[in-house]
Amino acid sequence: MFRKESAYEADFCFRIFIIMNCVVAKFGGTSVGSTESIKKAIEIVGSRYEKHPAVVVSAISRTTDMLIEAARNAANGAISIDAIKARQLEVMQGLGVQQSVIEDDLQELQDALQSISLVRKVLPELYALVVSFGERMSSKIIATYARGIGLHAVAYNSYNLGLITDSDYEEASVLPESYNRIASSMRAMPQNEIPIITGFIAKDANGSLTTLGRGGSDYTASIFGIAAGALEIQIWTDVSGVMTADPKIVSDARTIHEVSFNEAAELAYFGAKVLHPKTIYPAVEKNIPVKVLNTFRPNDSGTAIVHEVKNHEVLTAIAHKPDVSVIIISSPRMLFAYGFLEELFDIFAKHKIVVDTISTSEVSVSVTVDKKFDIEGLLVDLGKLAKVEVNKDRSSISIVGHGVKQTPGIAGAIFGALGAASINAEMISMGASEINISFVVESSNVQTAIKLLHKTFFELKDSPDAGIVSDAPAGSGSAAPWSRCHRRPASPARWPAR
Ligand code: ADP
Ligand code: ASP
Ligand code: MG
Repeated sequence: MFRKESAYEADFCFRIFIIMNCVVAKFGGTSVGSTESIKKAIEIVGSRYEKHPAVVVSAISRTTDMLIEAARNAANGAISIDAIKARQLEVMQGLGVQQSVIEDDLQELQDALQSISLVRKVLPELYALVVSFGERMSSKIIATYARGIGLHAVAYNSYNLGLITDSDYEEASVLPESYNRIASSMRAMPQNEIPIITGFIAKDANGSLTTLGRGGSDYTASIFGIAAGALEIQIWTDVSGVMTADPKIVSDARTIHEVSFNEAAELAYFGAKVLHPKTIYPAVEKNIPVKVLNTFRPNDSGTAIVHEVKNHEVLTAIAHKPDVSVIIISSPRMLFAYGFLEELFDIFAKHKIVVDTISTSEVSVSVTVDKKFDIEGLLVDLGKLAKVEVNKDRSSISIVGHGVKQTPGIAGAIFGALGAASINAEMISMGASEINISFVVESSNVQTAIKLLHKTFFELKDSPDAGIVSDAPAGSGSAAPWSRCHRRPASPARWPAR
């Protein structure tokens, strides 16, 4: 992450900086989505004052979506900031924060929408500019409220503290020089100050606004955590940590108390929305623990994401990505030919389309891509090379855990369970990391499939509604080797809580 020549300087910054800010705490959209939740978030910050928190905030929930919609409407000639303004005011009123705090931002937003309506197109630069106002407003609102209750809070735009990225406006990557720049800005802050920093947004070297991708405030927290040499990066959200599945789908999902960096990265990459996929690797580099905590239940222990987990479960969690497209590319040219795959992936690179999973046969390659990508141009170019078929309305499911590789029978149990429920699985693959099995199902089946798999692998065998499917692999007479996943700890000595 650091260039070699600056490593010493960076480490020096860490040592000094640790004295000032020990913890970077990020509060997500729902954690700042109402008067009450902002009060809760600031109560948490205030109660940890001695840990010198640096706070990273998301936009007030739903604001980013509203900004994107406003940009689209502006491209069609309709400019309105009413809904966005009303959403901010609704939260501000209960906090006693005056409208004047966001007046300049609202004016600039109006101007940005005006520019979009002139070009009749949401150019990427203008997209980034428009969505930036979500975090720019929330940081000011929250800092003003916090000052009102006696904390020495100051709002900062991350880019004014040194966060600089490449010019990928929708999903930018941080430039290495950011770390030292951020470290020195933060060193210059008064000891008792609590910076309230915008998540998600940054600027490129030309001073244009960029974004780190949807959900990217987690990534901001990680970047600031590294730069500050934080002892811990805390992701405060609306659930009590990383859970065995998305609790919005599986009501019995439970918190995993400790996961390894690898497992967390894999879960995030394969869709566990609770963490942005880029959050983990910066923290791995500096071995800084990441904690996922619940703003609404601050005493819950949450999840610690650490370098090494002493007592691994066989399986850790189920992640899913809704709405992916499967692209199947077939050509007899593939057979025994070299260079074909290179040609193929050059086309993906040309269209800047990221492939999530790949499976190949003798004459075909299947890939999954996120629905956020516009694949029309890609399909035209692929069509010049091979026969192309697209299956839309698919979702990918991944089962992650360090035991995936060593434990026989897991694949059999997954597909046996799905087969018994007449759910077809396509594109079955085992990630190169060997800690996950992924496959694709029709989106209409994804919730049923996840519930079924959660019951199979994570729920108590003796619970009254467990056992919809057999938990033993076909043909096995004995207990399934992952059966310890089913049981809650019988005694702490044998079953260390995670
Ligand atoms: P924030 O606004 O705090 O960033 P997000 O909505 O981005 O919050 O992420 C939290 C949500 O992630 C939860 O409400 C939950 O529905 C979803 N989620 C998906 N998979 C998981 C998982 N394995 N564990 C916990 N939450 C998950
Ligand atoms: N506000 C941004 C989004 O909604 C970033 C974030 O919340 O992390 O995607
Ligand atoms: Mg998030």
